[in-house]
Formats: sequence, structure tokens, C-alpha cells
Amino acid sequence: MVYYLLVGSIAFFLVVLVAMLAGFFRRIQRAVAEKTASQNELAQKIDIARDAPGGSAENPIAIETPVLVEAKAEDARCLRCDTPMRVEGHAAKTMAGRPLRVAELRCPRCEARRELYFELMRPS
Ligand SMILES: [Zn+2]
Repeated sequence: MVYYLLVGSIAFFLVVLVAMLAGFFRRIQRAVAEKTASQNELAQKIDIARDAPGGSAENPIAIETPVLVEAKAEDARCLRCDTPMRVEGHAAKTMAGRPLRVAELRCPRCEARRELYFELMRPS
């Protein structure tokens, strides 16, 4: 009698343990899948931002004066967490013979960084 109770409770314990482990592994699998999906999404956003105006030296945002760099750059949002970016600074650079301003942006929330490119339009 005691023997059956013991075997029964060990079997019950094993069933509970297996169910817990299965749930645990399912949760890990789901977390990995979600992480992969969000990384793919981030990679896509980075690609889109690179092709958008200001995303590269080949495709800068046209401005008339460097004073506008900060105002325009602060419209940019973090690709990772969608927080408005902060301008850390901007520097004049000549790239492929074009006078550019490169703004260094940093996300105040997740510390992500990116650059935004501007081209100074000479008044004609
Ligand atoms: Zn962020």
C-alpha cells in the first residue's frame, strides 16, 4: 500500500516536472523567436533609415545654413525605441566634393547612435 502511494507520488512528481520543463523550454523558444524577429525588424529599420534623406552622405538633407542642423536632426527618432534623438554635435565634412554637415545623434533612452547627413546649399 505504502509502495503504491510512493510510486504514485513519484509518477505525479515526474509528470509535473516534465510539464514544467516543457513550459520552460516553450518560453525560451518563444523569447528567442521574438528576439530574432525584433532584430530583423531593427535591421529593416536601419536599412530604411539609410535610404531615407539624411541617412547617408550620398543622400543628404538640403539646408541653407548650419544653424538648421540641430532643429532638423532633433526630428529624428531612435530606430530601436522610437525616442526623439539628441544631437551630440555636428561637424563639417567634405565628402565626394560636397560640403556636408554630419550630425551625431544619440538616443537618451537606449544610447543608440546614428549619424544624419546634411548638405549646405549655397544661396544662388
Ligand atoms: Zn533608443
